[in-house]
Amino acid sequence: MSSKPFYITTPIYYVNAVPHLGTAYTTIAADALARYRRLTGHDVFFLTGLDEHGQKVAQTAEENGMSPQEWCDAIAPRFVEAWELLGITNDDFIRTTEERHKVGVQAFWSALHAGDYLYKGSYEGWYCVPDETFWAEDQLAEGCCPDCGRQVEFIREDNWFFRLSEFQQRLLDHYEANPDFIQPQTRRNEVLSFVRGGLKDLSISRTTFSWGVPLPFAENHVTYVWIDALLNYITAVGYGSDDPQLAERFERYWPAQVHFVGKDIIRFHCVIWPAMLMAAGVALPESVFAHGFLLAKGEKMSKSKGNVQSPAELAERFGVDAYRYYFLRDVQFGSDGSISLESMVQRYNGDLANDWGNLCSRLFNMTGKYFDGIVPALSAEEIAADTPLRAIAEGLPAKYEDAMVRLDYGKALEAAWDLIKETNRYIENSQPWTLAKSEETAVDLARVIYHALEAVRIAALYCAPVMPITSAEVWSRLGLGDIHSVTDLESESRWGGLSAGNVVEKGDPLFPRIYEQ
Ligand SMILES: [Zn+2]
Repeated sequence: MSSKPFYITTPIYYVNAVPHLGTAYTTIAADALARYRRLTGHDVFFLTGLDEHGQKVAQTAEENGMSPQEWCDAIAPRFVEAWELLGITNDDFIRTTEERHKVGVQAFWSALHAGDYLYKGSYEGWYCVPDETFWAEDQLAEGCCPDCGRQVEFIREDNWFFRLSEFQQRLLDHYEANPDFIQPQTRRNEVLSFVRGGLKDLSISRTTFSWGVPLPFAENHVTYVWIDALLNYITAVGYGSDDPQLAERFERYWPAQVHFVGKDIIRFHCVIWPAMLMAAGVALPESVFAHGFLLAKGEKMSKSKGNVQSPAELAERFGVDAYRYYFLRDVQFGSDGSISLESMVQRYNGDLANDWGNLCSRLFNMTGKYFDGIVPALSAEEIAADTPLRAIAEGLPAKYEDAMVRLDYGKALEAAWDLIKETNRYIENSQPWTLAKSEETAVDLARVIYHALEAVRIAALYCAPVMPITSAEVWSRLGLGDIHSVTDLESESRWGGLSAGNVVEKGDPLFPRIYEQ
């Protein structure tokens, strides 16, 4: 394959929860980027998966009368189904209990052990089991976990440690030399000040339970679950594998272009993970992008607060495309964002039903009425005529790309919406229904309809990463091929690509209005 590789990851999700709005949010965002990069001709590898080890999983399995593996096997399909439902196009789905992962983790430990980056020490401190996180005495908040506020356990055991403290300067140098490594900027500042404050060596093994990947050189020690999870990004693409095909895969896709993470796990991804890779002599990912929290009425969404609706419920009510659109359009990616059913209904009726759906209905209708449903033929001169639509359509690719490089989905969608809104205005202003009344304005009528159809064809292309189902439908109604097989967005979006003679199908409304709240 000659096209440029582009490797995108979500965090692997903890198998103790079922898919919720938060995990769906990260996954949808990653999927929109994956789809966009496929359209721009990249050889995308999009990875998601499950984090299946750790004390908490073992405990939950036991409470449910299952072995840990049985528990994981029971939960995993729920994630696979949820992502299928939301149109997620991941190329792989890694589970940390898979053999390929174990092999990679052990190869990694062997490399660090050989490089003298590990030592045996004794750990004393506090542990939050639900978060699987260690805390020092002075980090506790009134004796509880500073992250989640729950009870912590005192732990004293022999652990293996990673010499994280030796990496302070190398990390700072890396942040300095790669200003886009941590995004957005606020998160970068947070990490910088944390690392400048000094780093402690990190306990990387546990002996009090066995549900994890054993260290290859130390009996009874299993890998600390957070480290185990981070390694999925390289084990999934073949790190440590003897299989030449998998080794080639690693060569091809690593380093990743972007790790999508929530802002709460940024230290693992921007401090510990790069230090581990440095120690193993493995290249660092190009960037880590941390998104914010979804807030319902100002509060973080959480099960205990009861403000969580399931992705499946929302998708059923609004449709998959509208679901994806709402979260990527209404919440500034990288910041916390408020979400509510009211604003979702508003976005749906305003942007989708009125602007986009209605444009398609009206226009396809008029094509039926005035041209028997056939795209009218225009002279080359008329196709190239200087209309406001052509100007906006020609500026769209650069604006969209610029926004997507920054993962600013809102801005990218706004750029597509500029074209959609202008097309509605253009139809209003040029009044095809008046032009249709006289033979003398037949050429004008054909130009207006053609230009509007062409704008819709192009708008559908740029909506496709976020709203794949309706974009495919619009293309199909325009008599065009499969939009998902486009790999050269630039040439596909060139003005004048719509062929005269294509049969345009009216079809049902793309986004029927929602009346009740
Ligand atoms: Zn906690």
